[in-house]
Amino acid sequence: MSSTETKERLAINGGPKAVTKEPGDMFTWPIVTKEDEDAVLEVLRRGAMSHTDVTLKLEEEIADWMGMKYALGHCNGTSALLGAMWACGVGVGSEVIAPSLTFWATTLQALSLGATVNFAECLEDTICIDPADIEHRINENTKAIIPVHYCGYPAEMDEIMAIAEKHNIKVIEDVSHAQGGLYKGRMTGTIGHVGAFSMMSGKSLACGEAGMLVTNDREIYERAVAFGFYERTGEKTEWNKASGQITIPELKKFSGLPMGGYKYRLNQTASAMCRVQLKYYPERIKEIQKAMNRFWDLLEGTPGVKAHRPPAESGSTMAGWYASKGLYRPEELGGLPVEKYCRAVQAEGVDVATPGANFPLHLHPLFHEADIYGHGKPTVIANAKRDVRQGPGSLPVTESIPQRCFSIPWFKHDRPEIIAEYAAAFRKVAEHADELL
Ligand SMILES: *Cc1c(COP(=O)(O)O)cnc(C)c1O
Repeated sequence: MSSTETKERLAINGGPKAVTKEPGDMFTWPIVTKEDEDAVLEVLRRGAMSHTDVTLKLEEEIADWMGMKYALGHCNGTSALLGAMWACGVGVGSEVIAPSLTFWATTLQALSLGATVNFAECLEDTICIDPADIEHRINENTKAIIPVHYCGYPAEMDEIMAIAEKHNIKVIEDVSHAQGGLYKGRMTGTIGHVGAFSMMSGKSLACGEAGMLVTNDREIYERAVAFGFYERTGEKTEWNKASGQITIPELKKFSGLPMGGYKYRLNQTASAMCRVQLKYYPERIKEIQKAMNRFWDLLEGTPGVKAHRPPAESGSTMAGWYASKGLYRPEELGGLPVEKYCRAVQAEGVDVATPGANFPLHLHPLFHEADIYGHGKPTVIANAKRDVRQGPGSLPVTESIPQRCFSIPWFKHDRPEIIAEYAAAFRKVAEHADELL
């Protein structure tokens, strides 16, 4: 056997691994420096964890960075999204339209407002909500569409906004995967009526447990404050510099108590870290984009494997490339199941090559059977004007995605030799797929 043939033999069949170099800090995230430590310690030493001064500065900086009028820090992304829903008028008997293939916190909170979720189909190449599958789901109870920029890929916002405007409903962008991303040159989270996102430690903008709501709409902002920020609803005082926000009389009259019965204040150790992370975030995601685009450029033309990224000339980006995915097309590889493809890529030295994406929410028993609040019937239909439950086969593209994508390495630095080895692993297995059938 010649040496090139040996090199080409799949590692899973006894050949040498494609990945040989130590990754070093290639995958370390978040990048924490003394500046983060000092900022957090400053809060701890002052005992200011539950104050709002650092959070107010963070809100100002987020609003400036995104070019938005208002930003409101939350204790996590889940609460920012729930606050956004209530602020948009989602309540008893309402419906929201959202993709099924996402983390549960895009939608599940709607049930706690007495609302329900109508899941829409996704597009096969973007894995974001399919705008063509939204309009027929709208009725007089529909209050909001909640697109997700899935794994960093910007959703089709122009089409979604046009539908929302036509039917006078709100758009809540879930930006948890795409902080700082661009959709046709505009930042994700600034296009809908309100944007909300997580900044928990696993996300690309990572600050501990934290969330943010951004909007240009004063009413949405005030409603979100009223829902979960009791100490920010009253008159502004020397003691409470954060208050004095509420001008809407129907909200002002309940000042001092949070209308949602929730407390969403952001722990300032997280706010402090977030201010430092935000300062370096634009340059860090630029580096990530260079690295990830390099990876995909190397894989261009590989059978069965397709990049999950918008076209280069579109003005759209993948933000921080959170939970980065590759698209898998088994029909180009003789029907090789994604599990087998991934196992062979793992054997080449790529541990993170795992099949699938989020579990489609419309098939989860919680969205079918759970009686969470004691209505004596499933919560998902407890207040609904119609049965919105969707069984197997109802969203065929969504249901096929777990077999049609896989996870790829999330490079934080543009180091060509290392990236080339990882790309070689994915290409090698694809080009030798017949040996795995
Ligand atoms: C992480 C995430 C959330 C929830 O954010 P938390 O900060 O974890 O509460 C919401 N939506 C999506 C799409 C997410 O990935």
